[in-house]
Amino acid sequence: MLKLDVARLKRAPGDSARFELLAESLPPLELQGELLEFSGPVKAVLNVANTGSALTVEGEASGRIKLNCSRCLDPFDYPFTVSVQETYTPVPDGGEETVPFSGDVLDITPEVLKSIILSLPMKAVCRMDCLGLCPGCGHNLNEGRCRCEGEDVDPRLSVLKNLIKGRERPE
Ligand SMILES: [Zn+2]
Ligand SMILES: [Zn+2]
Repeated sequence: MLKLDVARLKRAPGDSARFELLAESLPPLELQGELLEFSGPVKAVLNVANTGSALTVEGEASGRIKLNCSRCLDPFDYPFTVSVQETYTPVPDGGEETVPFSGDVLDITPEVLKSIILSLPMKAVCRMDCLGLCPGCGHNLNEGRCRCEGEDVDPRLSVLKNLIKGRERPE
């Protein structure tokens, strides 16, 4: 978890401090029913300032998360760097744009995870020149050519396609 000890800072209006955090194992992110695992620690470098009425947190979080390539469907490590910018106000104060907190520890994990989710691409590719899957036989073309180059569909696959069609047709 990404937690900041603000015991001293919250009693020092006008003061600020720099934090470097390393979260070894964050729980997987849930995105559209899918669980995305982090493939390593998440690092955060943050500046926290006491404005007198609130604590502002500003900085960056970075790490790697496992995504599936939208072209070849293989899982790969996607490196991310997101900016973090939040204002925390002690309960019972607080406004609409701020996150309430109590005690001496600021848990910024939910806000960082939200930023990471927002930064993920809709269609991630394992590499810019990923060749994807052959539309004919489904072979991963990054691993070499398949046999159906120049033909529309592998004859064995067309048999399979007809089978699937037959199954889909209501009897
Ligand atoms: Zn790929
Ligand atoms: Zn093929």
